[in-house]
Amino acid sequence: MSYQSVNPNTGKQLKSFEHMSTAQLQHALSTAQTCFQSWKNTSYADRAAVLSRAAVLLRAHVDDFAKLATLEMGKRIDEARGEVAFSADILSYYAQHGQAFLAPVELAPEQGEARMESSPFGVLFCVEPWNFPYYQLARVAGPQLMAGNVLVVKHAGNVPQCAIAFEKLLLDAGAPAGAYTNLLITHEQANQVIDDPRIKGVALTGSVGAGRSIAARAGKALKKTSMELGGSDAFIVMDDADLERTIPWAVWGRMYNAGQTCCAAKRFIVQAGIADRFLDRFMSALSQLQVGDPMDKRTTHGPLSSEAALLQLLGQVDAAVENGARLLMGGKRIDRPGSFMEATILTDIRSDNPAFRDEFFGPVVSFHRVKDEAEAIALANNSDFGLGGSVFTQDVARGNRIAGQVDTGMMFINNLHWSDAALPFGGVKNSGYGRELGNLGIQEFVNKKLVRAGDFAAPV
Ligand code: NAP
Repeated sequence: MSYQSVNPNTGKQLKSFEHMSTAQLQHALSTAQTCFQSWKNTSYADRAAVLSRAAVLLRAHVDDFAKLATLEMGKRIDEARGEVAFSADILSYYAQHGQAFLAPVELAPEQGEARMESSPFGVLFCVEPWNFPYYQLARVAGPQLMAGNVLVVKHAGNVPQCAIAFEKLLLDAGAPAGAYTNLLITHEQANQVIDDPRIKGVALTGSVGAGRSIAARAGKALKKTSMELGGSDAFIVMDDADLERTIPWAVWGRMYNAGQTCCAAKRFIVQAGIADRFLDRFMSALSQLQVGDPMDKRTTHGPLSSEAALLQLLGQVDAAVENGARLLMGGKRIDRPGSFMEATILTDIRSDNPAFRDEFFGPVVSFHRVKDEAEAIALANNSDFGLGGSVFTQDVARGNRIAGQVDTGMMFINNLHWSDAALPFGGVKNSGYGRELGNLGIQEFVNKKLVRAGDFAAPV
Protein backbone atom coordinates (compact mmCIF):
# COMPACT_ATOMS: atom_id res chain seq x y z
CA MET A 1 0.00 0.00 0.00
CA SER A 2 1.20 3.54 -0.72
CA TYR A 3 1.77 6.10 2.05
CA GLN A 4 -1.66 7.21 3.29
CA SER A 5 -2.27 10.37 5.26
CA VAL A 6 -5.65 9.92 7.00
CA ASN A 7 -7.11 12.13 9.72
CA PRO A 8 -8.00 9.76 12.60
CA ASN A 9 -10.38 12.34 14.03
CA THR A 10 -12.65 12.03 11.00
CA GLY A 11 -11.44 8.99 9.06
CA LYS A 12 -11.03 11.20 5.98
CA GLN A 13 -8.07 10.76 3.69
CA LEU A 14 -5.89 13.87 3.43
CA LYS A 15 -3.30 12.78 0.87
CA SER A 16 -1.53 9.73 -0.45
CA PHE A 17 1.96 9.27 -1.83
CA GLU A 18 3.37 6.62 -4.13
CA HIS A 19 6.38 4.55 -3.14
CA MET A 20 9.70 5.55 -4.67
CA SER A 21 10.74 3.76 -7.83
CA THR A 22 13.91 1.67 -7.82
CA ALA A 23 15.66 4.41 -9.80
CA GLN A 24 14.60 7.10 -7.31
CA LEU A 25 15.79 4.98 -4.39
CA GLN A 26 19.15 4.32 -6.04
CA HIS A 27 19.52 8.02 -6.75
CA ALA A 28 18.76 8.84 -3.10
CA LEU A 29 21.39 6.38 -1.87
CA SER A 30 24.08 7.64 -4.22
CA THR A 31 23.31 11.27 -3.33
CA ALA A 32 23.66 10.36 0.35
CA GLN A 33 26.94 8.56 -0.31
CA THR A 34 28.33 11.54 -2.23
CA CYS A 35 27.17 13.91 0.49
CA PHE A 36 28.94 11.86 3.16
CA GLN A 37 32.30 12.40 1.45
CA SER A 38 32.02 16.13 2.09
CA TRP A 39 29.85 16.14 5.24
CA LYS A 40 32.37 14.02 7.16
CA ASN A 41 34.97 16.74 6.48
CA THR A 42 32.61 19.61 7.27
CA SER A 43 33.62 21.33 10.50
CA TYR A 44 31.65 20.78 13.69
CA ALA A 45 30.86 24.50 13.65
CA ASP A 46 29.29 24.28 10.21
CA ARG A 47 27.32 21.14 11.08
CA ALA A 48 26.14 22.82 14.28
CA ALA A 49 25.04 25.88 12.31
CA VAL A 50 22.70 23.73 10.19
CA LEU A 51 21.17 22.09 13.27
CA SER A 52 20.81 25.43 15.04
CA ARG A 53 19.06 26.98 12.04
CA ALA A 54 16.72 23.98 11.88
CA ALA A 55 15.90 24.49 15.57
CA VAL A 56 15.14 28.17 14.95
CA LEU A 57 12.86 27.27 12.03
CA LEU A 58 11.02 24.65 14.08
CA ARG A 59 10.40 27.17 16.86
CA ALA A 60 9.32 29.85 14.38
CA HIS A 61 6.82 27.52 12.71
CA VAL A 62 5.76 25.47 15.70
CA ASP A 63 2.06 25.74 14.86
CA ASP A 64 2.46 24.60 11.25
CA PHE A 65 4.46 21.54 12.26
CA ALA A 66 2.15 20.79 15.18
CA LYS A 67 -1.05 21.01 13.12
CA LEU A 68 0.32 18.56 10.58
CA ALA A 69 1.01 15.99 13.32
CA THR A 70 -2.45 16.51 14.80
CA LEU A 71 -4.05 16.05 11.39
CA GLU A 72 -2.05 12.97 10.42
CA MET A 73 -1.89 10.97 13.63
CA GLY A 74 -4.36 12.63 16.00
CA LYS A 75 -1.97 13.98 18.64
CA ARG A 76 -3.64 16.66 20.77
CA ILE A 77 -2.53 20.06 19.53
CA ASP A 78 -0.83 21.15 22.77
CA GLU A 79 1.08 17.89 22.91
CA ALA A 80 2.07 18.36 19.26
CA ARG A 81 3.36 21.86 20.00
CA GLY A 82 5.34 20.46 22.91
CA GLU A 83 6.82 17.77 20.68
CA VAL A 84 7.91 20.31 18.06
CA ALA A 85 9.53 22.52 20.70
CA PHE A 86 11.31 19.54 22.25
CA SER A 87 12.56 18.44 18.83
CA ALA A 88 14.11 21.89 18.43
CA ASP A 89 15.73 21.51 21.86
CA ILE A 90 17.31 18.20 20.80
CA LEU A 91 18.80 19.74 17.65
CA SER A 92 20.14 22.68 19.69
CA TYR A 93 21.54 20.36 22.34
CA TYR A 94 23.66 18.42 19.86
CA ALA A 95 24.70 21.59 18.04
CA GLN A 96 26.03 22.82 21.37
CA HIS A 97 27.57 19.65 22.83
CA GLY A 98 28.32 17.31 19.91
CA GLN A 99 31.90 18.38 19.35
CA ALA A 100 32.83 17.97 23.02
CA PHE A 101 31.22 14.51 23.15
CA LEU A 102 33.34 13.38 20.20
CA ALA A 103 36.61 15.07 21.15
CA PRO A 104 39.70 12.78 21.04
CA VAL A 105 40.30 10.98 24.33
CA GLU A 106 43.91 10.64 25.53
CA LEU A 107 44.65 7.15 26.87
CA ALA A 108 47.41 6.12 29.24
CA PRO A 109 49.27 3.03 27.96
CA GLU A 110 52.39 1.93 29.83
CA GLN A 111 54.47 2.71 26.76
CA GLY A 112 54.21 5.47 24.19
CA GLU A 113 51.18 7.61 23.63
CA ALA A 114 47.67 6.68 22.57
CA ARG A 115 44.39 8.33 21.93
CA MET A 116 40.87 7.37 20.85
CA GLU A 117 39.46 9.33 17.93
CA SER A 118 35.83 9.41 16.83
CA SER A 119 34.86 9.30 13.17
CA PRO A 120 31.47 8.81 11.50
CA PHE A 121 30.39 5.47 10.01
CA GLY A 122 28.80 6.86 6.81
CA VAL A 123 25.25 6.59 5.50
CA LEU A 124 22.82 5.38 8.17
CA PHE A 125 19.37 3.93 7.56
CA CYS A 126 16.79 4.97 10.17
CA VAL A 127 13.30 3.45 10.43
CA GLU A 128 10.95 5.49 12.59
CA PRO A 129 7.42 5.23 14.07
CA TRP A 130 4.46 7.61 13.78
CA ASN A 131 3.77 8.17 17.48
CA PHE A 132 6.23 11.08 17.75
CA PRO A 133 6.46 12.11 14.11
CA TYR A 134 9.12 14.82 14.66
CA TYR A 135 10.78 13.94 17.97
CA GLN A 136 11.77 10.50 16.67
CA LEU A 137 13.42 12.14 13.65
CA ALA A 138 15.19 14.78 15.75
CA ARG A 139 16.45 12.02 18.05
CA VAL A 140 18.46 10.53 15.17
CA ALA A 141 19.11 13.62 13.03
CA GLY A 142 20.55 15.78 15.84
CA PRO A 143 23.28 13.43 17.05
CA GLN A 144 24.04 11.65 13.79
CA LEU A 145 24.36 14.72 11.58
CA MET A 146 26.52 16.33 14.24
CA ALA A 147 28.73 13.22 14.31
CA GLY A 148 29.28 13.55 10.54
CA ASN A 149 27.01 10.71 9.46
CA VAL A 150 24.29 11.25 6.86
CA LEU A 151 20.81 9.72 7.05
CA VAL A 152 18.29 8.03 4.80
CA VAL A 153 15.05 7.69 6.75
CA LYS A 154 11.96 5.55 6.34
CA HIS A 155 9.16 7.07 8.38
CA ALA A 156 5.89 5.27 9.17
CA GLY A 157 3.30 4.83 6.42
CA ASN A 158 0.68 7.06 8.09
CA VAL A 159 2.77 10.23 8.59
CA PRO A 160 4.19 11.02 5.15
CA GLN A 161 3.45 14.74 5.40
CA CYS A 162 5.35 15.07 8.68
CA ALA A 163 8.21 13.07 7.15
CA ILE A 164 8.39 15.37 4.13
CA ALA A 165 8.13 18.49 6.32
CA PHE A 166 11.12 17.39 8.42
CA GLU A 167 13.26 16.70 5.35
CA LYS A 168 12.37 20.15 3.99
CA LEU A 169 13.20 21.70 7.37
CA LEU A 170 16.79 20.46 7.17
CA LEU A 171 17.19 21.53 3.55
CA ASP A 172 15.80 24.97 4.44
CA ALA A 173 18.32 25.10 7.29
CA GLY A 174 21.15 24.64 4.80
CA ALA A 175 21.83 20.90 4.99
CA PRO A 176 23.39 19.76 1.69
CA ALA A 177 21.37 17.43 -0.55
CA GLY A 178 21.85 13.90 0.74
CA ALA A 179 22.54 14.78 4.37
CA TYR A 180 18.99 13.85 5.34
CA THR A 181 16.74 12.07 2.84
CA ASN A 182 13.20 10.91 3.42
CA LEU A 183 12.47 7.58 1.72
CA LEU A 184 8.88 6.66 0.86
CA ILE A 185 9.55 2.93 0.52
CA THR A 186 8.02 -0.49 1.14
CA HIS A 187 9.31 -3.00 3.68
CA GLU A 188 10.86 -4.98 0.81
CA GLN A 189 12.68 -1.87 -0.38
CA ALA A 190 13.77 -1.28 3.22
CA ASN A 191 15.40 -4.72 3.12
CA GLN A 192 17.25 -3.75 -0.05
CA VAL A 193 18.46 -0.58 1.65
CA ILE A 194 19.75 -2.60 4.61
CA ASP A 195 21.63 -4.91 2.24
CA ASP A 196 23.12 -2.04 0.22
CA PRO A 197 26.89 -1.77 0.82
CA ARG A 198 26.62 2.03 1.06
CA ILE A 199 24.60 1.67 4.29
CA LYS A 200 26.87 1.40 7.34
CA GLY A 201 24.40 1.25 10.24
CA VAL A 202 20.70 0.81 10.93
CA ALA A 203 18.60 2.43 13.66
CA LEU A 204 15.02 1.37 14.32
CA THR A 205 12.39 2.72 16.67
CA GLY A 206 9.29 0.56 16.44
CA SER A 207 7.66 -2.68 17.44
CA VAL A 208 9.32 -5.92 18.51
CA GLY A 209 8.25 -7.54 15.22
CA ALA A 210 9.94 -4.85 13.16
CA GLY A 211 12.98 -5.14 15.41
CA ARG A 212 13.33 -8.87 14.81
CA SER A 213 13.01 -8.46 11.06
CA ILE A 214 15.31 -5.46 10.65
CA ALA A 215 17.97 -6.54 13.16
CA ALA A 216 18.11 -10.00 11.57
CA ARG A 217 18.55 -8.53 8.10
CA ALA A 218 21.21 -6.10 9.29
CA GLY A 219 22.92 -8.86 11.27
CA LYS A 220 23.23 -10.96 8.14
CA ALA A 221 24.99 -8.04 6.46
CA LEU A 222 27.11 -7.47 9.62
CA LYS A 223 25.84 -3.96 10.14
CA LYS A 224 25.59 -2.35 13.53
CA THR A 225 22.05 -1.65 14.75
CA SER A 226 20.33 0.18 17.55
CA MET A 227 16.86 -0.95 18.54
CA GLU A 228 14.34 1.20 20.42
CA LEU A 229 11.36 -1.14 20.71
CA GLY A 230 8.18 -1.52 22.70
CA GLY A 231 7.56 -1.47 26.41
CA SER A 232 5.13 -2.45 29.13
CA ASP A 233 6.36 -0.20 31.88
CA ALA A 234 5.37 -0.72 35.49
CA PHE A 235 3.91 2.20 37.46
CA ILE A 236 4.53 1.04 41.04
CA VAL A 237 2.57 2.70 43.83
CA MET A 238 3.67 1.96 47.39
CA ASP A 239 1.24 2.37 50.27
CA ASP A 240 2.95 5.56 51.48
CA ALA A 241 2.57 7.34 48.11
CA ASP A 242 1.14 10.86 48.08
CA LEU A 243 -1.98 10.34 45.96
CA GLU A 244 -2.41 14.08 45.35
CA ARG A 245 0.81 13.95 43.34
CA THR A 246 0.59 10.36 42.09
CA ILE A 247 -2.85 10.40 40.42
CA PRO A 248 -2.02 13.21 37.95
CA TRP A 249 1.10 11.28 36.92
CA ALA A 250 -0.95 8.08 36.57
CA VAL A 251 -3.44 9.83 34.27
CA TRP A 252 -0.73 11.59 32.27
CA GLY A 253 1.47 8.49 32.17
CA ARG A 254 -1.28 6.37 30.61
CA MET A 255 -3.22 8.95 28.58
CA TYR A 256 -0.51 11.24 27.15
CA ASN A 257 -0.43 10.87 23.34
CA ALA A 258 -3.66 8.81 23.67
CA GLY A 259 -1.61 6.15 25.43
CA GLN A 260 0.63 5.58 22.41
CA THR A 261 4.03 6.05 23.97
CA CYS A 262 6.65 3.31 24.20
CA CYS A 263 7.51 4.15 27.81
CA ALA A 264 3.94 4.97 28.91
CA ALA A 265 2.78 3.62 32.25
CA LYS A 266 1.04 0.40 31.19
CA ARG A 267 1.07 -1.96 34.17
CA PHE A 268 -0.15 -0.32 37.38
CA ILE A 269 1.25 -2.28 40.32
CA VAL A 270 -0.30 -0.96 43.52
CA GLN A 271 0.25 -2.04 47.12
CA ALA A 272 -2.92 -3.46 48.71
CA GLY A 273 -3.11 -0.88 51.52
CA ILE A 274 -3.62 1.98 49.07
CA ALA A 275 -5.12 0.11 46.09
CA ASP A 276 -8.81 0.96 46.64
CA ARG A 277 -8.15 4.63 47.27
CA PHE A 278 -5.82 4.79 44.25
CA LEU A 279 -8.34 3.05 42.01
CA ASP A 280 -11.28 5.27 43.07
CA ARG A 281 -9.38 8.45 42.35
CA PHE A 282 -7.77 7.12 39.16
CA MET A 283 -11.14 6.03 37.72
CA SER A 284 -12.72 9.32 38.67
CA ALA A 285 -9.90 11.30 36.99
CA LEU A 286 -10.04 9.17 33.84
CA SER A 287 -13.80 9.55 33.55
CA GLN A 288 -13.46 13.37 33.61
CA LEU A 289 -11.32 13.52 30.45
CA GLN A 290 -12.91 15.48 27.60
CA VAL A 291 -13.17 13.43 24.44
CA GLY A 292 -13.00 15.48 21.28
CA ASP A 293 -11.21 16.92 18.28
CA PRO A 294 -7.46 16.89 19.01
CA MET A 295 -7.20 20.26 17.24
CA ASP A 296 -9.36 21.77 20.03
CA LYS A 297 -7.30 22.90 23.02
CA ARG A 298 -10.08 21.88 25.43
CA THR A 299 -9.85 18.22 24.39
CA THR A 300 -8.00 16.02 26.87
CA HIS A 301 -8.74 12.64 25.24
CA GLY A 302 -8.03 12.43 21.50
CA PRO A 303 -8.26 9.64 18.95
CA LEU A 304 -5.84 6.81 18.36
CA SER A 305 -3.53 7.22 15.38
CA SER A 306 -5.57 5.13 12.96
CA GLU A 307 -8.56 2.83 12.63
CA ALA A 308 -6.20 -0.14 12.40
CA ALA A 309 -4.60 0.82 15.72
CA LEU A 310 -8.06 1.06 17.34
CA LEU A 311 -9.20 -2.31 15.99
CA GLN A 312 -6.01 -3.98 17.20
CA LEU A 313 -6.44 -2.56 20.69
CA LEU A 314 -10.14 -3.50 20.91
CA GLY A 315 -9.16 -7.03 19.85
CA GLN A 316 -6.53 -7.19 22.59
CA VAL A 317 -9.03 -6.07 25.25
CA ASP A 318 -11.59 -8.65 24.06
CA ALA A 319 -8.94 -11.38 24.16
CA ALA A 320 -7.91 -10.30 27.66
CA VAL A 321 -11.51 -10.62 28.91
CA GLU A 322 -12.02 -13.97 27.14
CA ASN A 323 -8.96 -15.19 29.01
CA GLY A 324 -10.33 -14.23 32.42
CA ALA A 325 -9.51 -10.55 32.92
CA ARG A 326 -12.17 -8.27 34.40
CA LEU A 327 -13.07 -4.87 32.94
CA LEU A 328 -13.31 -2.17 35.61
CA MET A 329 -14.11 0.56 33.10
CA GLY A 330 -14.23 1.24 29.36
CA GLY A 331 -13.26 -1.41 26.85
CA LYS A 332 -15.17 -0.10 23.83
CA ARG A 333 -14.79 2.29 20.95
CA ILE A 334 -16.37 5.69 21.56
CA ASP A 335 -19.55 6.26 19.60
CA ARG A 336 -18.52 9.16 17.39
CA PRO A 337 -16.72 9.53 14.06
CA GLY A 338 -12.99 8.81 14.08
CA SER A 339 -10.88 6.21 15.88
CA PHE A 340 -11.55 6.84 19.57
CA MET A 341 -11.17 4.32 22.40
CA GLU A 342 -12.61 4.60 25.91
CA ALA A 343 -10.20 4.92 28.81
CA THR A 344 -10.08 1.31 29.96
CA ILE A 345 -8.98 -0.57 33.07
CA LEU A 346 -8.40 -4.32 33.12
CA THR A 347 -7.71 -6.30 36.27
CA ASP A 348 -7.44 -9.94 37.41
CA ILE A 349 -4.93 -10.56 34.62
CA ARG A 350 -3.43 -13.98 35.31
CA SER A 351 0.02 -14.84 34.04
CA ASP A 352 -1.42 -17.20 31.38
CA ASN A 353 -3.53 -14.38 29.89
CA PRO A 354 -1.94 -12.92 26.71
CA ALA A 355 -2.67 -9.50 28.23
CA PHE A 356 -0.12 -10.26 30.96
CA ARG A 357 2.77 -10.07 28.48
CA ASP A 358 1.48 -7.96 25.57
CA GLU A 359 1.97 -4.24 25.06
CA PHE A 360 -1.28 -2.21 25.01
CA PHE A 361 -0.55 0.75 22.75
CA GLY A 362 -3.42 3.01 23.74
CA PRO A 363 -5.54 4.07 26.75
CA VAL A 364 -5.69 0.66 28.47
CA VAL A 365 -4.54 0.19 32.07
CA SER A 366 -3.51 -3.20 33.43
CA PHE A 367 -4.19 -3.01 37.16
CA HIS A 368 -2.48 -5.33 39.66
CA ARG A 369 -2.62 -5.43 43.47
CA VAL A 370 0.45 -6.62 45.38
CA LYS A 371 1.06 -7.21 49.07
CA ASP A 372 4.52 -5.68 49.43
CA GLU A 373 7.64 -4.25 47.85
CA ALA A 374 9.12 -7.64 46.96
CA GLU A 375 5.99 -8.71 45.14
CA ALA A 376 5.86 -5.37 43.28
CA ILE A 377 9.44 -5.80 42.07
CA ALA A 378 8.88 -9.43 41.07
CA LEU A 379 5.78 -8.51 39.07
CA ALA A 380 7.48 -5.52 37.43
CA ASN A 381 10.29 -7.84 36.34
CA ASN A 382 7.93 -10.55 35.09
CA SER A 383 7.84 -9.01 31.63
CA ASP A 384 9.48 -9.62 28.28
CA PHE A 385 10.02 -5.87 28.04
CA GLY A 386 12.53 -3.69 29.88
CA LEU A 387 12.16 -0.12 28.69
CA GLY A 388 11.30 2.08 31.68
CA GLY A 389 9.22 2.16 34.83
CA SER A 390 8.37 4.31 37.81
CA VAL A 391 7.83 4.09 41.53
CA PHE A 392 5.76 6.40 43.71
CA THR A 393 6.54 6.59 47.44
CA GLN A 394 7.24 9.34 49.94
CA ASP A 395 10.26 7.38 51.16
CA VAL A 396 12.97 8.33 48.66
CA ALA A 397 15.35 5.64 49.94
CA ARG A 398 12.64 3.07 49.30
CA GLY A 399 12.08 4.54 45.83
CA ASN A 400 15.77 4.24 45.03
CA ARG A 401 15.90 0.69 46.39
CA ILE A 402 12.98 -0.40 44.20
CA ALA A 403 14.30 1.46 41.13
CA GLY A 404 17.61 -0.35 41.54
CA GLN A 405 15.94 -3.76 41.38
CA VAL A 406 13.69 -3.28 38.37
CA ASP A 407 15.31 -4.66 35.24
CA THR A 408 14.80 -1.85 32.72
CA GLY A 409 16.80 0.82 30.90
CA MET A 410 15.18 3.72 32.77
CA MET A 411 13.48 4.21 36.16
CA PHE A 412 11.69 7.31 37.44
CA ILE A 413 11.01 8.05 41.10
CA ASN A 414 7.87 10.12 41.86
CA ASN A 415 7.77 11.47 38.30
CA LEU A 416 7.58 10.43 34.67
CA HIS A 417 10.03 12.90 33.14
CA TRP A 418 10.80 10.39 30.43
CA SER A 419 12.78 12.26 27.89
CA ASP A 420 15.44 14.92 28.14
CA ALA A 421 17.90 15.84 25.39
CA ALA A 422 20.77 15.42 27.87
CA LEU A 423 19.76 12.00 29.26
CA PRO A 424 20.07 8.56 27.66
CA PHE A 425 16.90 6.83 26.48
CA GLY A 426 16.55 3.12 25.76
CA GLY A 427 15.83 -0.31 27.13
CA VAL A 428 16.85 -3.91 27.68
CA LYS A 429 15.22 -7.31 26.95
CA ASN A 430 12.64 -7.08 24.12
CA SER A 431 12.67 -3.30 24.44
CA GLY A 432 15.89 -3.35 22.44
CA TYR A 433 19.46 -2.20 22.82
CA GLY A 434 21.52 0.91 22.31
CA ARG A 435 20.68 4.39 23.56
CA GLU A 436 19.46 7.59 22.00
CA LEU A 437 19.89 11.14 23.38
CA GLY A 438 22.57 12.43 25.74
CA ASN A 439 26.24 11.67 25.21
CA LEU A 440 25.54 7.95 24.61
CA GLY A 441 23.17 8.76 21.71
CA ILE A 442 25.90 10.36 19.62
CA GLN A 443 28.34 7.47 20.19
CA GLU A 444 26.19 4.69 18.66
CA PHE A 445 27.38 4.99 15.04
CA VAL A 446 30.87 6.35 15.52
CA ASN A 447 34.13 4.52 14.90
CA LYS A 448 36.27 4.65 18.02
CA LYS A 449 39.69 4.56 16.43
CA LEU A 450 42.82 3.88 18.45
CA VAL A 451 45.86 5.85 17.37
CA ARG A 452 49.06 4.78 19.13
CA ALA A 453 52.40 6.50 18.72
CA GLY A 454 55.78 5.36 20.08
CA ASP A 455 59.19 4.58 18.76
CA PHE A 456 59.11 0.91 19.78
CA ALA A 457 61.58 -1.63 18.43
CA ALA A 458 59.91 -4.56 16.65
CA PRO A 459 59.93 -7.77 18.74
CA VAL A 460 62.47 -10.32 17.48
P1 NAP B 1 6.02 -0.63 13.70
O1 NAP B 1 4.86 -1.25 13.03
O2 NAP B 1 7.16 -1.49 14.05
O3 NAP B 1 6.48 0.57 12.73
C1 NAP B 1 7.61 1.35 13.05
C2 NAP B 1 8.37 1.63 11.75
O4 NAP B 1 8.93 0.42 11.26
C3 NAP B 1 7.47 2.16 10.63
O5 NAP B 1 8.23 3.06 9.85
C4 NAP B 1 7.18 0.90 9.83
O6 NAP B 1 6.84 1.17 8.50
C5 NAP B 1 8.49 0.18 9.92
N1 NAP B 1 8.45 -1.25 9.76
C6 NAP B 1 7.68 -2.14 10.43
N2 NAP B 1 7.98 -3.40 10.06
C7 NAP B 1 8.97 -3.30 9.12
C8 NAP B 1 9.69 -4.25 8.35
N3 NAP B 1 9.48 -5.56 8.48
N4 NAP B 1 10.62 -3.79 7.49
C9 NAP B 1 10.86 -2.47 7.35
N5 NAP B 1 10.20 -1.52 8.07
C10 NAP B 1 9.27 -1.94 8.93
O7 NAP B 1 5.63 0.10 15.01
P2 NAP B 1 4.27 0.79 15.37
O8 NAP B 1 3.41 -0.26 15.95
O9 NAP B 1 3.74 1.60 14.28
O10 NAP B 1 4.85 1.78 16.49
C11 NAP B 1 4.69 1.58 17.79
C12 NAP B 1 5.75 0.72 18.41
O11 NAP B 1 6.97 1.46 18.48
C13 NAP B 1 5.39 0.35 19.81
O12 NAP B 1 5.74 -0.97 20.10
C14 NAP B 1 6.22 1.33 20.62
O13 NAP B 1 6.42 0.90 21.95
C15 NAP B 1 7.46 1.43 19.81
N6 NAP B 1 8.21 2.65 20.12
C16 NAP B 1 9.38 2.55 20.80
C17 NAP B 1 10.09 3.69 21.15
C18 NAP B 1 11.38 3.60 21.90
O14 NAP B 1 12.12 4.59 21.93
N7 NAP B 1 11.72 2.48 22.53
C19 NAP B 1 9.58 4.94 20.81
C20 NAP B 1 8.38 5.01 20.13
C21 NAP B 1 7.70 3.85 19.79
P3 NAP B 1 5.31 1.11 8.01
O15 NAP B 1 4.57 2.15 8.77
O16 NAP B 1 5.40 1.42 6.55
O17 NAP B 1 4.82 -0.28 8.28
